[in-house]
Amino acid sequence: MSEETRLREQICRIAASMFARGLTAGSSGNISARLGDGRLLVTPTGSSFGQLDAMRLCLFDAAGRFVSGDKPTKEMPLHTAFYETRPVKTGAVTHLHSAHSVAVSLLPDIDPDSVFMPLTAYSIMRLGKVKLLPYFRPGDPAMGNAVRGLAGKRSAVLLAHHGPVVAGKDLEAAAYAMEELEETAKLTFLTQGMRPKLLSDAEVRGLVEHFDIEWDD
Ligand code: ZN
Repeated sequence: MSEETRLREQICRIAASMFARGLTAGSSGNISARLGDGRLLVTPTGSSFGQLDAMRLCLFDAAGRFVSGDKPTKEMPLHTAFYETRPVKTGAVTHLHSAHSVAVSLLPDIDPDSVFMPLTAYSIMRLGKVKLLPYFRPGDPAMGNAVRGLAGKRSAVLLAHHGPVVAGKDLEAAAYAMEELEETAKLTFLTQGMRPKLLSDAEVRGLVEHFDIEWDD
C-alpha cells in the first residue's frame, strides 16, 4: 500500500472514531496531514467525520496548489499557518468544535496565554501551553494570521466561540493531543469552583525539562 493510500485511510479511520465518540458532530471539524514529499491531504468542506470517502479527500501539491478531490475546508488558513510556522514539527493538524473545549473558550476568567490550569501531566506533555485566540468569522483569513502571529511557538490553540486547533508531528500525535485537550476541558468543568489541587510550579518545570516541552515563549 502506498504512503498516500495509507494516510488517506488513516484520516478517515481517525475521523470516524472521533465522530463515533461525539468529539465532533454534523459536518464540523477538519483534518490535514502531510505526505513525506510535502503534498497535503485535507478533509473537504461540508463533509462529516462520520462518513469521509478516502478518494474524495483534497490533495494539494508541495507548493500548495490544488491537485484533486472535493473542495477543501474553508478553514484551510488555520492549517497552512501551522505548516508554515512549524515546518519541521508539523505533519498533521486537527480542528474540532468539541463541546467542552468550546465551552472553556467562553469562560470569563481564563488566562488567554495559558487556557488550562496545570491539572494533569499529560495535558502539559501533549499540548504545552494552549493559547486562546480571539473570535473570527469562520473562513476569515485573519484566523491564519493569528496563528502565524504565534511564530510557531504553540502547537495547540483555542479559537474563542469556535474550537481547538492542534498540530502534531504526525496524524496520530495530532489526534491524541486533540483528545487530550478535550479531556482537559472536561476536567476543567469537573473541578471548576472546587479549588482543585494543581501541579506545583516545580512539578510543571520538571515535566517541561524532562520531556522538552514548549512552554516558555
Ligand atoms: Zn471550525
